[in-house]
Amino acid sequence: MSVPCIEFVCNRCDFIALDEVLSGPHSYRFDGREISIDRELGWCMQCQTLVAIERFHVNGKLEALKQLREDISAHNASWLRRLFRPQRLTDLCERLSYLRVMLEFYERRRGTEKCLRCSSIEVVPIAQKEYDLELRRFRYHGIHTTSFRHPGCGGTIIAQPHPVRYHRIFSHRIYDHDGVFLGEED
Ligand SMILES: [Zn+2]
Ligand SMILES: [Zn+2]
Repeated sequence: MSVPCIEFVCNRCDFIALDEVLSGPHSYRFDGREISIDRELGWCMQCQTLVAIERFHVNGKLEALKQLREDISAHNASWLRRLFRPQRLTDLCERLSYLRVMLEFYERRRGTEKCLRCSSIEVVPIAQKEYDLELRRFRYHGIHTTSFRHPGCGGTIIAQPHPVRYHRIFSHRIYDHDGVFLGEED
């Protein structure tokens, strides 16, 4: 399937980048676990372009943790559930363990967000609201002038619909616990 994408251009030079840098599966792999990488668009000083950078937002995850603990207590409080739905407890505990590992990991890594292309930490995130074009009938509409200035050039970066739709197959990108790229898998 072809997907629409957003292009970022500079109003002073011929710079262009596409938001598809955020696409495709990205995972951390460590301690026998695989965790999906939360990421956002940003400028990398090393790559000198727009890239995907790591994001360690806990938004929603603390509530999810609280909910899981409540679900486990409720499950344990009912002998009927304990007797007839033992698998549910296993599932809940697995999700709790995954979430705990993730939160500890985010806590430890926060402040060391890396470029997912070159592993540099010299990155500047660009909030999605800066380029939130309207997606209607599988096309982007409108133009957003971001508040981001093209480093070294000073021009303003503008987000607009890219005229071409591409068919792309993305490989699964794997990273270690420090956000260092390990390799690609099909
Ligand atoms: Zn420029
Ligand atoms: Zn980079």
